[in-house]
Amino acid sequence: MEVSEHAVRALTRLDELGGAEGSQIYDPILSHALAPLIAHPAMAFHCARCQDRVAWWTLHSRLALIVFAERRATTKTRRAGTSDLDQARDDDGLEPWIDQATRPGGRIQISEWSGGGNTSGYPLRVTFQCGCGAEYVTRNSSRLRAFLTSRKVGSSRILL
Ligand SMILES: [Zn+2]
Repeated sequence: MEVSEHAVRALTRLDELGGAEGSQIYDPILSHALAPLIAHPAMAFHCARCQDRVAWWTLHSRLALIVFAERRATTKTRRAGTSDLDQARDDDGLEPWIDQATRPGGRIQISEWSGGGNTSGYPLRVTFQCGCGAEYVTRNSSRLRAFLTSRKVGSSRILL
């Protein structure tokens, strides 16, 4: 199957579920649909206002989650998927992409951990800030949908 077909299959399941929040990130059918897309290069999320790149996004290695970082890993360590992201971290037990979003001053900030019945252990809302001042408050569902739509149409970048 082509990448676009895998993306369509995952988008269909996402629509059936009505989102990918809370326990939905563990949905086995959605995970199965996403599996062929995990080992693809991270994609650039761009600002809709100024077109600058804001972050890099890729799929979580096991869950129906979009993970992200401000920077990519060095070319030597990039092997697609989450290895494409800058994994620099403190040794506090958090997954590196979450750890980075908890540090003050970054362009990616966790804006809300829970709410809406979110008990997944992952953030409910994450805010991406562009250098131009634009802010993107996102939930996993909207990130995943935008990511899959870019894959579906063969675009190399993501816009919200
Ligand atoms: Zn911008």
